[in-house]
Amino acid sequence: MAFNVIDLMDQQSVEGARSTVPFFFRLGDTQRASIRPLLNLDGACEVWFHKIYNPQGKFYVESTCARVIGKKCQLCEDALRASDRKAKKDMTAKQMFMLPVWLYSIKTKKIDDGMAVLDENDNPVFEDLTYTNKETGEKKLVSGVRVLQLMFKESSFARVADTFRLMYKAGNSIADRDFLIERHGSGTDTSYEPSKRNPSPFSVKPDFDVTEEWVRQSCINNYPPQVVSEGYRARGTSDPAIDAIVQGVKNAQVADDTIGDF
Ligand SMILES: [Zn+2]
Repeated sequence: MAFNVIDLMDQQSVEGARSTVPFFFRLGDTQRASIRPLLNLDGACEVWFHKIYNPQGKFYVESTCARVIGKKCQLCEDALRASDRKAKKDMTAKQMFMLPVWLYSIKTKKIDDGMAVLDENDNPVFEDLTYTNKETGEKKLVSGVRVLQLMFKESSFARVADTFRLMYKAGNSIADRDFLIERHGSGTDTSYEPSKRNPSPFSVKPDFDVTEEWVRQSCINNYPPQVVSEGYRARGTSDPAIDAIVQGVKNAQVADDTIGDF
């Protein structure tokens, strides 16, 4: 056997191994995370995004709507042709507010032989979620820059989004404090519940500049738009034409804050 199948299964089961670089903030059922928003709420980046689930609630398609780069979107066209109302609604691009955060760590239920380990009061024991660095074999904390996909209605992140909006409206910067976010449920019944900690100084320094424009470009690069009659574009493919458009959007933004209607 050329590979150890258990190693492959281990890799698939941790967040950091699913893709080359984790980008969106995600948790498994009953996991909880400690985060710090890297920008205040008015620094969130508006991106129209397709997130289409299959009936099992697994991801089927995640793609930035091609309208974001001023092109005709194949997924929007598919949505128009969808047979029933629910499918149409599911397939339509959603207006999301992408907010970069620092993920300190994720706590997950301690599991032994596939079963949750309980403490003396029969409450589950939690431990830090780690992954193994393939090159060094070193165990590392799942941690770093992640992007929250905030939406205000019928979304798993609605409670988090509302909490942030109310705080911002009350004149408080959400970037001044840490939040605990816990996930409940799975598939389309997922919800993320926030709780906040007192304001505190932020001492972590991400190794690159996390700006609204970085978030927009990363969405486009990591979850490429499916442009009508340009063929399927897989995640991570670099395309000079798209790069040029992204650069154009960036330049336009410097010259003028209003970037057309998308
Ligand atoms: Zn679209």
